[in-house]
Amino acid sequence: MNVKKMPAGTKYIFVTGGVTSSLGKGIIGASLAKLLQARGYSVTIQKLDPYINVDPGTLNPYEHGECFVTDDGAETDLDLGHYERFLNVPTSQANNVTTGRIYQYVINKEREGAYLGKTVQVIPHITDEIKRRIKLLGNTGKYDIVITEIGGTVGDIESLPYIEAVRQLKWEPDFDCIVLHLTLVPFLATSGELKTKPTQHSVKSLLESGVQPDILALRTEHKLTEGVKEKVALFCNIAPKAVIQAIDAETIYDVPLLMQEEELDKVVLDKLSLPYKDEPSLVAWKEFLSKLKNPKHKISIGLIGKYIELKDSYKSIAEAIIHAGVSNEIEVDIKWIHSESIKDSNAKQKLSALDGILVAPGFGERGIEGKIAAVKYAREQKVPFFGICLGMQSAVIEFGRNVLGLPDAHSTEMEENTSNPVIYLMEDQKNVSTKGGTMRLGAYPCQIKKDSNSYEAYQSEHISERHRHRYEFNNKYRAEYEKNGMRATGINPENDLVEIVEIKDHPWFVGVQFHPEYKSTVTEPHALFVNFIKASAHVKASLNSTPH
Ligand code: GLN
Repeated sequence: MNVKKMPAGTKYIFVTGGVTSSLGKGIIGASLAKLLQARGYSVTIQKLDPYINVDPGTLNPYEHGECFVTDDGAETDLDLGHYERFLNVPTSQANNVTTGRIYQYVINKEREGAYLGKTVQVIPHITDEIKRRIKLLGNTGKYDIVITEIGGTVGDIESLPYIEAVRQLKWEPDFDCIVLHLTLVPFLATSGELKTKPTQHSVKSLLESGVQPDILALRTEHKLTEGVKEKVALFCNIAPKAVIQAIDAETIYDVPLLMQEEELDKVVLDKLSLPYKDEPSLVAWKEFLSKLKNPKHKISIGLIGKYIELKDSYKSIAEAIIHAGVSNEIEVDIKWIHSESIKDSNAKQKLSALDGILVAPGFGERGIEGKIAAVKYAREQKVPFFGICLGMQSAVIEFGRNVLGLPDAHSTEMEENTSNPVIYLMEDQKNVSTKGGTMRLGAYPCQIKKDSNSYEAYQSEHISERHRHRYEFNNKYRAEYEKNGMRATGINPENDLVEIVEIKDHPWFVGVQFHPEYKSTVTEPHALFVNFIKASAHVKASLNSTPH
């Protein structure tokens, strides 16, 4: 047991990656943060992304998966979703920085004349700005430890300024930091061997940039022998106990416990000269895992979207479904269904095996008719339905067309000149001409009607949820919708915007303009997802018990 006293000042942990991308730096960082949080430290995680987009808001989900949104309206990398789901602490604009944002800031300053007379260069101007952003969270005084994940792979040209900033920070007298480097130890099936050479090369590449990693985490399919760890330690100037095995896990939620077994948290605290404090018990976390692995029932939910080839496009939704399943002790089999493949004529064949239907968010024309057909099936066949953002808008369009008898009911996003614009551009979007960061973003309040599925879920009349949209329900049609059975059960109290629609004569039909998935965490599964899964299981059980 180390007995060092707690020194003042925020400590920093940099997480870099080598050998390949997609090794799970985000999950390792979030797991380490979870362990340190469980020991009594206040921890946050930041992601530095080396691309030139100012934020991922303008990226197609096929590029990097979902765009996550914070309370303060930042459009961010999906890793921030993992951070929030693991830590149950909200992130903010400062938690995600891209190269584009860094350069934009420096170039704007240059235009203002802030560097007058000087040549503006990668070193020191860009690296100074990177360092300033790294320190922002620590300077709030709220955190004992800031974990900064550097996106990309060591050796990439675009990561170089970040690694250089880390090198400089390591030499700053009052800056206390360590570097955790995650690499891959591939297994060669033909010779039955784990190979350490790529790791050695990756560390060499870091060393060429002047950065000696303090801890190595080795992603591996097979258990690492002591011999492998010792070899890596020897070649990479690292103590054997600071070589951590990061073995493939059954679920990402196992990783904090695997890291605890490897004593990653203790190695980190020793290196940062911080006391161990409480041994993490992770009671709630273990209970979550045990329920996840021992479900009592199973249901299948259809996730209808147009980016399903890359499941990361719906990361937060998929995780929120897992959280809600666990809270109901139900295993949810997500059936990923391409919205472009659904038509009224095949809806029964495609959707009849599902216990619940979730229509996902999205943008643009492609796949919209399939989403509308899926809503129609769910509404008519009384299958529990959950529509999120464009999913909610699809529900409104479907109801307009098939219940109100407005065949051309549409969103002006897809059909600008429709004579029945039941979904239309928000007033404050009308003068917006640029795409980046201009949607209605972040947390807004919503007032909930008491007699509704939403109230039953939230158990509160006042909620706040995160948004990312330009279009809204057209209030001109509200009375007509209400009269025919689609009720606006959630309203923004400040501008009367319809946030939730529901159909009463249905087991569970809820469409939300906001994105509840962003707020679901392991310890606080989202109430709407929990009730959607509950309703789907309930309908399944009652169908099974009625004689056919
Ligand atoms: N495209 C729709 C809008 O902008 C829905 C957005 C979404 O699903 N996130 O309003």
